[in-house]
Amino acid sequence: NLTAGIVGLANVGKSTFFQSITNSKLGNPANYPFATIEPSQAVTQLPNEKLFHLQDIYKAKKVVPSTLTVIDIAGLTKGASDGKGLGNKFLNDIKMVDGIFHLVRGFSGEEVTHLEGGVDPVRDMYLVQDELILKDLEYLERSIEQNSKKRIPHSNVEYKILQGETKLLEQLQEFLYNGQKISNFKTEWGEDEAKVLNKYNFLTSKPTLILFNVDPIDYLTGKHKSLKDMITWRDQYAPRDNIVLFSAEIETKYNEMVVHKGDREQFTNYCKQLAPGITEADSALSTIIQEMKCKLHLLNFYTCGDVEVKQWNIREGTTAREAAGVIHTDLQRTFINAEITHYADVDAHVVKRVGKDYVMQDDDIAFFKAVG
Ligand code: GDP
Repeated sequence: NLTAGIVGLANVGKSTFFQSITNSKLGNPANYPFATIEPSQAVTQLPNEKLFHLQDIYKAKKVVPSTLTVIDIAGLTKGASDGKGLGNKFLNDIKMVDGIFHLVRGFSGEEVTHLEGGVDPVRDMYLVQDELILKDLEYLERSIEQNSKKRIPHSNVEYKILQGETKLLEQLQEFLYNGQKISNFKTEWGEDEAKVLNKYNFLTSKPTLILFNVDPIDYLTGKHKSLKDMITWRDQYAPRDNIVLFSAEIETKYNEMVVHKGDREQFTNYCKQLAPGITEADSALSTIIQEMKCKLHLLNFYTCGDVEVKQWNIREGTTAREAAGVIHTDLQRTFINAEITHYADVDAHVVKRVGKDYVMQDDDIAFFKAVG
């Protein structure tokens, strides 16, 4: 199961954002309850209208969307990397997530204390990123030292692998010292480098989306006085991190009015009152989830029958046989072939038979054939 963690300084709106995710009903409001695993963990279903179309076609009794687990990771403060505040707990929690929502405060709200003084999104982004970099640096230093203590005969292949690994770790270390994230080190990682990355699971190599929590009017008009500076900073220090504007306050209203009361008109009127001149207004949540899906290089495939139509998450590049393994390990073991219909061709009944090495495409519908 894929997880995304919400990270940011205190009082920037993390819990409020988490609440709006857990209270909302992305996809089909009538059918989907959201499960909260723990106070700070929730499973959100990835919105997808295609499921309902498939349900119609296959006359399936139910649909089962794929999910993303979202974790509210509290406790990042300046000095978290030294164990200040909830420092270490925070860092353990963040280590396990696949992607990061980095929440940044842009709303004014005088009544909400800002721990670092006033509202200054660039400083806050820098502070958070710096803590993550410091933690990665500490980890790198320890790892390089441990590697140097390993005694492997020079003639052994493992020696060469270890040497390569240490060399990369040292390069990453230097890069981090310059205030850069590991995700920004290279656009194309070699196979061996990717292995090292997967092994170490660095905080600053995780796909990250910057969520800029602004006042309703700024969200509705798509503007904020700091946005330009944030983009300049982002381009230099975190070029892969998209910035998405949202408003925790608007999301709360959206839940109240649209999700719970079903009154979209009330919501639209509320927004129009705040920002006269706008023609429409919507929640930012589905965009946010969609962006995270992109960041994680997630694709979906479907299995369809009259019992259920089910959506599965896979990573880009997954083969047919590996996809079968996502459903069940036995199915991967006994895999013979698959019949694939792309969602776009479903009405035309175009079916192709593929072997184990077929690379799955987003929105493939698959029937796997297995031995026995
Ligand atoms: P966290 O510490 O990052 O989890 O922040 P919270 O979500 O607990 O929010 C801290 C305080 O800021 C709460 O009193 C929220 O009601 C308030 N808050 C959160 N988002 C907004 C917002 O968009 N606008 C305003 N005015 N207040 C907000």
